[in-house]
Amino acid sequence: MKDKGISPDDIQKFIQEKLGSGVQVQLFPQQQKVETDEEQPTARERALEFDYKPSDIKKHLDRFVIEQDDAKKVLATAICDHYHHLQHGSDRDWTEYKKQNIILIGPTGVGKTYLIQNIARLIGVPFVKADATKYSETGYVGGDVEDLVRELVAQAGGDVHLAECGIVYLDEIDKIASPQNTMGRDVSGHGVQRNLLKLMEETEVPLRSSTDIASQMQAFMEFQSKGKIEKKTINTRHILFIVSGAFSGLTEIIKKRIGSKQIGFTGDKTTAEEEHSLFSRVKSVDFIDYGFEAEFAGRLPVVVHCTPLSVDDLYSIIKHSEGSILKQYKRDFLAYGIDVYFTDDGMRAIAEAASLEQTGARGLMSVCEKLLREYKYCLPDSEVKQFVVDRELVEEPMGMLNKLLEDPTLFTAQVQRWKLKRLEQDMRSRYGIQLSFTDEAVEIIGAEAQKQRLDPDEFCEGLFQNYQHALNLLSKRSLDHAIVIDADAVRNPGEAFEKWIRNSFK
Ligand code: ADP
Repeated sequence: MKDKGISPDDIQKFIQEKLGSGVQVQLFPQQQKVETDEEQPTARERALEFDYKPSDIKKHLDRFVIEQDDAKKVLATAICDHYHHLQHGSDRDWTEYKKQNIILIGPTGVGKTYLIQNIARLIGVPFVKADATKYSETGYVGGDVEDLVRELVAQAGGDVHLAECGIVYLDEIDKIASPQNTMGRDVSGHGVQRNLLKLMEETEVPLRSSTDIASQMQAFMEFQSKGKIEKKTINTRHILFIVSGAFSGLTEIIKKRIGSKQIGFTGDKTTAEEEHSLFSRVKSVDFIDYGFEAEFAGRLPVVVHCTPLSVDDLYSIIKHSEGSILKQYKRDFLAYGIDVYFTDDGMRAIAEAASLEQTGARGLMSVCEKLLREYKYCLPDSEVKQFVVDRELVEEPMGMLNKLLEDPTLFTAQVQRWKLKRLEQDMRSRYGIQLSFTDEAVEIIGAEAQKQRLDPDEFCEGLFQNYQHALNLLSKRSLDHAIVIDADAVRNPGEAFEKWIRNSFK
């Protein structure tokens, strides 16, 4: 039988015994084997089945990210260039390529990370994000920038070749800039820039950090079992680096370079449009003035500006984005059998409150969390099966919660009306027929639907099910009036359809 040697668990126990149980030990995943030469092309090929045009990427981003159109276009184009180059990197004509590392400028919470995350997900490459402030020049205090690259390998499940096509995203890069002329300039920031520069160009990063005891122990363990230490490195030539920051004060530098008169700005305060226009004229020299080393600024040829989000944008994010957090809340409540609905004015009130937080779309999360925290705690113990988040609830959450707990059916009628609206819309788009329900009909439908444990619109669909032919006939008549569904129509749909068709020929 093969000698198992020391296991990762043994090392974990050993280190925790020596250094205390509070010490977290991170071992490289077991599958992080160096692949054989035959395996290499397969791993790379998988990542490089890249067959997108910039407009495809933009279209994909539009599903999730609201606004930021300029940023989407510039990013989509740079990403296509980068991955096309990766596909053809070995062809002679492509060897002169300069990597399209990207710098993203914009306030917090406007979608910078979200853009990159969605791109990485679409093309299936590993993605790592960290704050630049976490790193120090030496890597002893704080981290070592090379850890970023090693983290890519972990994200790629140990597949080094896939990691070599990955994306590293470094936020708060402006915090490691320091102007040349300030006293006590941050030497460490410049050191981190120089270290990053090495990664951005091309270097071999060892898979085992020299400052990490666990990985050194693992190397030792392998040496014990195999009698040799294999060289394990990751090459950074094709890793795409994206850095970002708010860069407050950068517009002043750009303005000074261009000259205010030339750009026609009149007021003292820079408006959002002026700011966007200034950022679109940014040059490497402005980043150097801001405190980047010239070589570092020179390695970031693609500049993208993400604009602040207005109340309307925030409203669109919760209403239209496929990644809207409201979906998460709906799921959370549904886990207790509770349906939550958000009205348009409710969503607008949430967007307005979020905008005051000045943290971009992150404000939406904090507003929803505060708003619905007590609901999440109390409602699972109650008889409430549905509730509606409208403006009144957003403005008076506790008052509404108490009312709801007193009367769990508070929103039932509203929800039923609403579901019938859904049916009305569906009928309009499917048959071009305009429906309208009398109050009495709504009541009967509600009661019947409840008996059959159906939603009111499902109940009506069932009601209409045997009359597809009649519906098709009506849809061809292009009626100029609504079909009114009253109590009689609910009780006897056959007769009602006959009457509607007869009337349509009059
Ligand atoms: P940052 O600009 O600070 O990197 P993020 O991209 O991390 O901000 O945004 C935080 C979250 O807010 C995202 O995960 C996403 O859910 C949401 N978000 C931010 N901006 C947008 C946007 N423009 N469209 C849709 N969702 C957004």
